[in-house]
Amino acid sequence: MTHFSKRFKAAAALALCAVLAACSSLPASLPSSATPESSAAPASSSSAPAAGGELLTVRFLDVGQADSALIRCGDDAMLIDGGNAADSSLVASVLQNEGLDTLDVVAATHAHEDHVGGLSGALNVCTAQRVIAPVTQYDSQAFSDFVRYTEAQGLSVEVPAAGDTFSLGGAQVTVLGPVQEYDDTNNTSLVLRVDFGSTSFLFTGDMERGAEEDLLAQWGEEALRADVLKVGHHGSDTSTSYPFLRAVMPQIAVISVGAGNSYGHPDDAVLSRLSDEGAAVYRTDECGDVTVVSDGETLTVTTQKHTAPDAGASSFPASSASVASADEESYIGNLNSKKFHLPSCSSLPREDNRIYFATRDAAVEAGYTPCGLCNP
Ligand SMILES: [Zn+2]
Ligand SMILES: [Zn+2]
Repeated sequence: MTHFSKRFKAAAALALCAVLAACSSLPASLPSSATPESSAAPASSSSAPAAGGELLTVRFLDVGQADSALIRCGDDAMLIDGGNAADSSLVASVLQNEGLDTLDVVAATHAHEDHVGGLSGALNVCTAQRVIAPVTQYDSQAFSDFVRYTEAQGLSVEVPAAGDTFSLGGAQVTVLGPVQEYDDTNNTSLVLRVDFGSTSFLFTGDMERGAEEDLLAQWGEEALRADVLKVGHHGSDTSTSYPFLRAVMPQIAVISVGAGNSYGHPDDAVLSRLSDEGAAVYRTDECGDVTVVSDGETLTVTTQKHTAPDAGASSFPASSASVASADEESYIGNLNSKKFHLPSCSSLPREDNRIYFATRDAAVEAGYTPCGLCNP
């Protein structure tokens, strides 16, 4: 049996973590007994060594009681979930600050607003190559907006099948779930596994116990083993069952959760199960953004708390209204030319080429320039 001497170091946290113990006082390296015994790639994947010098960076964004993770590898980027609709500007700012104007894959794990809502912001500032979700229709404003912004790019939402794989730079992404249809929206969550060198990450959306069981039955324990687990459903007791956790055996567990949320997430029982399995837990409510960098062998974690102008508020002052819906349009952008217009302008873009902004600042922030005719 192959033993990996994978080291895990917690780099000096950049951040002012509110609860230092949870964020920055981890041991510099975990004892070898805590390292997984194999890279546990799913049957369909090969565990190719990372390309020379290439890194995989996974940034779990602090979007409060919601999920969003940006994954970059080589020149490629994938966004898994985008937080709530109110996080649209934050997500757009993060992408712009990272210098991204293209996302190779935009994934909505499932149709709930706290996952799909902010993807409109991402699709507003980035060209997507592919947009994936477990469904193409869902009765909510947030999902309709997501579909509208996807279609505005000339794309349609694709539903991947369990077992599908695609590459992201030197990393390989495998769609592990859902393995069957579910009535419960949380259980429809796309389960995405990312393998890079001998390191691996598992993204589970809000998948609950029932789907965890089905996933285990379908793939077996080895295929689920991963170094980093995005803990299901914000740390709710409905997810992260012992059998699932014992298959994954994560060294690092990231819980995306809002401070003082009304659901009581993360549940004490989940924290206790994670602690029993020896996982180092990072919570976005305590740590802010949690970034895990892999060189294919070693994982390094840094955390960065946004410096909020108001206590408790998210650090991005931009208003959540920067992505406006059609009925509150004030400025109309052209997705192709990146110019923006007044609704009264005589040279408005075609309907399917439009993007709407509530304020002039939002249009400028998104990289659009004013039309020379209407001078918005
Ligand atoms: Zn959720
Ligand atoms: Zn959900």
